[in-house]
Amino acid sequence: MRRVGVVLLVWCGVIAVVCACLALTGGIGAPPVAAQAPEPTPAASAPAPAPTPGGRVVILGFDGVEPTIVESMMAAGALPNLAKMRDSGGSYQRLASSNPPQSPTAWSSFATCKNPGNHGVYDFLRRNPANYVPGLGFGALKQPELAPDGVLANPAAFTNYRKGETFWAMASAAGIATKLLVVPFAYPVERLVGGTMLCGLDVSDIRGTQSTYFAMSDRIEAVENIPGGVRLPLKFEGDVAMVMVPGIRNPATKQFVEVPLKLTVDRPGHAVAFELAGQTAKLAENTWSEWLEWTFEVSPQFRVRAISRLHVIEAGEHVRLYMTCLQMHPRAPLAPISNPDEYAGQLVDRYGLYKTVGWRFDTKALQQNDLTDDVFLDDARKTMDWQGTLTLDEVALSPFRLMVSAWTATDRVAHMFWRFRDPKHPLYNEEGAKKYGKVVEETYAKMDEIVGKVAAKLTPDDLLMVLSDHGFHSFRKGFSINTWLIRNGYLAVKDQTDPASAFTNMKYLEAFDWTRSKAYGLGLGSIFLNLKGREGQGVVASEEAAALLGEIRDKLLAVADPDTGDKVFRAVYTKAEVYKGISEADAPDLQVGYADGYQTEKASAAGAAPKELLAPNDDKWSGEHAASDVADTPGIFFSNRAMEPNAAIVDLGVTTLKFLNVPAPPDLEGKALLK
Ligand SMILES: [Zn+2]
Repeated sequence: MRRVGVVLLVWCGVIAVVCACLALTGGIGAPPVAAQAPEPTPAASAPAPAPTPGGRVVILGFDGVEPTIVESMMAAGALPNLAKMRDSGGSYQRLASSNPPQSPTAWSSFATCKNPGNHGVYDFLRRNPANYVPGLGFGALKQPELAPDGVLANPAAFTNYRKGETFWAMASAAGIATKLLVVPFAYPVERLVGGTMLCGLDVSDIRGTQSTYFAMSDRIEAVENIPGGVRLPLKFEGDVAMVMVPGIRNPATKQFVEVPLKLTVDRPGHAVAFELAGQTAKLAENTWSEWLEWTFEVSPQFRVRAISRLHVIEAGEHVRLYMTCLQMHPRAPLAPISNPDEYAGQLVDRYGLYKTVGWRFDTKALQQNDLTDDVFLDDARKTMDWQGTLTLDEVALSPFRLMVSAWTATDRVAHMFWRFRDPKHPLYNEEGAKKYGKVVEETYAKMDEIVGKVAAKLTPDDLLMVLSDHGFHSFRKGFSINTWLIRNGYLAVKDQTDPASAFTNMKYLEAFDWTRSKAYGLGLGSIFLNLKGREGQGVVASEEAAALLGEIRDKLLAVADPDTGDKVFRAVYTKAEVYKGISEADAPDLQVGYADGYQTEKASAAGAAPKELLAPNDDKWSGEHAASDVADTPGIFFSNRAMEPNAAIVDLGVTTLKFLNVPAPPDLEGKALLK
């Protein structure tokens, strides 16, 4: 397997998941969870702030909030703070997302006020047309490198593929004090003078993955690497098991550095005691540990610190634990996660240890039944609260003129629990619907509560904007774009000649015969032509391209689900229609827009072509938006001011700059919305 394959495999946590953009609470009936990380204590309440001359801008971002749910909740009086903002001189409208309406693309459009044709982030995967090798679409972490004597030669560093300056950097350059709190895909750290930044989505664990969790049990026979996780066997001698936890890979030996974790089970008491480098505690079933602190000695001169939490699922006849990924220690992160560097550590002084990994909620562990629905939901609720407290404190603690703070639980809960709100979803059942059918609404109610608390801290001079980057749909069936291309004669598999039956489970575009292929799919909704002069083994002449794209588009728009007769696609966009700018060379030739209920099947998204063209989605990852039709997948936009209609995600930064009297460069694609 080519090296990228390995990299991508490591990444399956998200990519296979990916199959989508990429966790909460309070689930009704959630069991009591004791020994949680301490709830953050709000900083001492400051006196009501005096108005800042010219006013401040506060933007609260919530990933993946579906407007139809928000609108019906408002009509029912269930979102009082958002409704109050709309009705007291403010405004509400649906917010046009980026095309495609997936988070890396949309948050990049938010940050740069530009469409993907310019910022260049189109999908979770991008391919190198010269050799068809896929890579990550939005950025990657380069792991640390050691000199032969074991000294750190090059530290870990994240590269973001996004092109274009962020609007907060423009504001900062004009002397505006800024605070960026866990804004998705705003990584690596931007060294804004006088600015405060805590990074969120894209911050990896110490392995360089988005998240690699640990499942431990005496039912597991041998170490098993699974998408987004590692399963570790517990071999008890009497009541004691010693498990070696593999942390970061030694760049010289390529072996994982391991640290022993000692577990002692109290079977009659249904509890497990752990011992790690002098830290000990006894945890009852259904409880979390405090944060454990790890040190992995890669070499005598280079140690990597990490934090994680344990959750005891079962401690009786059998023992079963879940452990979060090994997250960067906020006091000594493997790569910078805040500006200034010491800010991440100062938050530990303020709140205690906290999650640093960007992929905040362990969707993979839930998908693979290594975490329960209730624990996932409880974690999501607490994480939303932590971010709410951080935001409120930062509004009051030190002066600023621009703050952006964001939450991703809204998106992850919808991805994982849509199965209980759509009776047509393959995993829907009455019992689940009764228990979890309203968890999305519960998350939105918490969003409303947070907005209300922040709004109460602002003055009439301040501009408050609340947005979501895109909406949501059910994901009932997976459509394999590559299989469809094969069946219609546009794509060929090596050593297979019958388009009616050819297929391949080999990912990363490795199994296709390029000499016989005119088009291929990669990523959640992208189709590329195998173009002469661009692709390494291209066969389509440029003068044939437009007609071929038109032909493929027309055929896709005619595709109907044989079970229901429903059209699978709402729209199919050509590159010429929607992608213009300095990054258009990387754009897909066709971007599909699925109808509600359909998305790209995940193996096809990863460059395979499974046998079935259309398959029921029996994955807990049951809600999706990543390749939905952008016209059918808007987000939400509230403000405490009246705003022009037809707002789009590229407009908010431009609106911010205008409010702050910062000149906007002419190449920004958004418009100022203030009336
Ligand atoms: Zn999402």
